[in-house]
Amino acid sequence: MAVPGILALQGGFEAHRRILVQLGYDPILVRTGRDLDRVCSLILPGGESTVMTKLLKRADLFEPLAEKIQAGLPVFGTCAGMILLSNGVEESDQPTLGAMDFTVRRNATGRQKESFEVPLLWQEKNFSALFIRAPEIQRIGNGEMVLLSYRDKPVLVQQDNCLAASFHPELTGFTEIHRYFLNHI
Ligand code: GLN
Repeated sequence: MAVPGILALQGGFEAHRRILVQLGYDPILVRTGRDLDRVCSLILPGGESTVMTKLLKRADLFEPLAEKIQAGLPVFGTCAGMILLSNGVEESDQPTLGAMDFTVRRNATGRQKESFEVPLLWQEKNFSALFIRAPEIQRIGNGEMVLLSYRDKPVLVQQDNCLAASFHPELTGFTEIHRYFLNHI
């Protein structure tokens, strides 16, 4: 059976694992190239994007991951994961995977203690979107499909095999966006 993966070098991978288990999957926690070769899709969790990038490079996963995404591997990045998927970070030379056609401003929603939740609607279901030191999408290309916005800013976007959220569906127990990723991307 095709097995989904979760990048587990740093950050909130455990919360994503719980959601996938709830949905009936037994995901692989990806830490090596061998793990990466075994998965049919990959979640990039929240955490600290600079640290995650360093660890990806140290594990020799950065280039292989970029190539696999380019070749069609379905990926879902939340928060720091969205930063990794972006085309670049405003006012920074922080490396990114460049898989999606938008740039981000990091920590746009302020500090950890300024985290907030807002009610949003996804496919006619209400849920609470939790933003923690979230990135904000800045320059977005025409190929991006904006699936959800908050205050006129895109917060859930899709481009072909890539899905990115600036909030944390894995931390509020809302399984529907993960279900969408696993079933449709
Ligand atoms: N601010 C973090 C970063 O820049 C992302 C925060 C998060 O993933 N909750 O990587």
